[in-house]
Amino acid sequence: MKRNRRAKIVATVGPASSSPEMLKKLFLAGVDVFRLNFSHGSHDDHAKVFNAIRALEKELERPIAVLQDLQGPKIRVGTIKDGKQQLKKGDKVRFVPTGENGKLSNIPLHHPEIFAAIETGHKLMIDDGRLRLTVTDCGKDFIDAVADVGGVISDRKGVNLPDTILELSPLTEKDRKDLAFGLELGVDWMALSFVQKPSDIEEARKLIGTKTRLMAKIEKPSALEFIEDIVPLTDGIMVARGDLGVEIPPEEVPGRQKELIRICRLIGKPVVVATQMLDSMVAAPAPTRAEASDVATAIYDGASAVMLSQESAVGEYVVETVEMMNSIIYKTEHHSAYDQIISALQPDVQKTPQRVLAASSAAIARTIGAKAIVTLTSSGSTAARIARQRVAVPTLAITPTAAQARQLCLFWGVQAIASPDIKSYDEMVDMARLHTKRAGFGVEGDKIVVLAGIPFGRPGTTNNMRIVTL
Ligand code: PEP
Repeated sequence: MKRNRRAKIVATVGPASSSPEMLKKLFLAGVDVFRLNFSHGSHDDHAKVFNAIRALEKELERPIAVLQDLQGPKIRVGTIKDGKQQLKKGDKVRFVPTGENGKLSNIPLHHPEIFAAIETGHKLMIDDGRLRLTVTDCGKDFIDAVADVGGVISDRKGVNLPDTILELSPLTEKDRKDLAFGLELGVDWMALSFVQKPSDIEEARKLIGTKTRLMAKIEKPSALEFIEDIVPLTDGIMVARGDLGVEIPPEEVPGRQKELIRICRLIGKPVVVATQMLDSMVAAPAPTRAEASDVATAIYDGASAVMLSQESAVGEYVVETVEMMNSIIYKTEHHSAYDQIISALQPDVQKTPQRVLAASSAAIARTIGAKAIVTLTSSGSTAARIARQRVAVPTLAITPTAAQARQLCLFWGVQAIASPDIKSYDEMVDMARLHTKRAGFGVEGDKIVVLAGIPFGRPGTTNNMRIVTL
């Protein structure tokens, strides 16, 4: 079950993929991380999927990560008279904080924080940006706006406010309940939606602690503005191009995607590129050429993972979509230009002993043609430092806990193995030999590079590198 690629695949579970049989097929086709989208489904539904994934993990003896994606404070209009109202370019609209069944003169928007923060000139978008308005006047109980692009406003459609920073907790009541439920289940990663500022991460971290890893979904312009402060506080980010592409012009998304990947590579944190990657495969057995190219671009940029949403949740060709993503990644990583492109973005080596050793192990592994870099890592940080190098040699991370092994599933190039019993350096080298062979990365006579911190179990002590012959 060796993966022959370095970048990872995240797949959203939905009605088309939630059965134990389908989860197994998808894992075998290449899924490394299953995403449970808490914008949909009941706790019961998610618990069933979670338990099926853990049972699969036991059956296949391979760590599989579960990413819980919280819905976040998605803003919606209230109900509209007759279910919908037509809005033409130039029409004037008034939004109000109370009421239901609104007409264009009193569209309900039950979010007082918007009325407190919005300003004249701000943009207001409805229904994934299909309708676009500009605010002409506002007060604490009204927002007047004029339509720049018309369309139909219908009940409970989503609202995006790209220019407005809202005094809003990133966690709604529903999110708090979902988060507590996810922690109890034991999810491995938690994704926070609509992050606006660094304090949003701190607020979530207080609830999560170190029980799971925390991912910030980057989908607001304000998150882009504060990104240098947000990334160090999170364990990883998702380039959530669905909402991001509504809040900023589509033509700016590719450049932002590159920036976000670069920042995460520099700091050494996982970055997931998400949304519409193989969207046409929801209803077709093959992607468009542009979609294949989109996945490849994320891989050339060095994304840690690429994500499927609708394609794996409700698509008609779920297994084929994962197989396609797997083979696009494989082909890209094996293309003659790949090494040159990915190493052009190589971050400078930072001069801490741990970083220097990680960079050197990558360089040595490449130079001697080692079959794997094997690291004993209790916090996962040594594996993260090697992943940061984006070296083509696979990394085997031997870690004491199953939880840590699952969390590492999202890291570029890392295959993790939980092995709680290692007590000495010699034992670790024996384990490195054993696991490299068992995982199918090398055979008798091959070389591996072993990287560890001695004494064991003390995070941040990577201080030892050895070339070992199998
Ligand atoms: C996105 O907006 O791209 C995204 C991944 O978030 P969600 O699917 O929760 O809307």
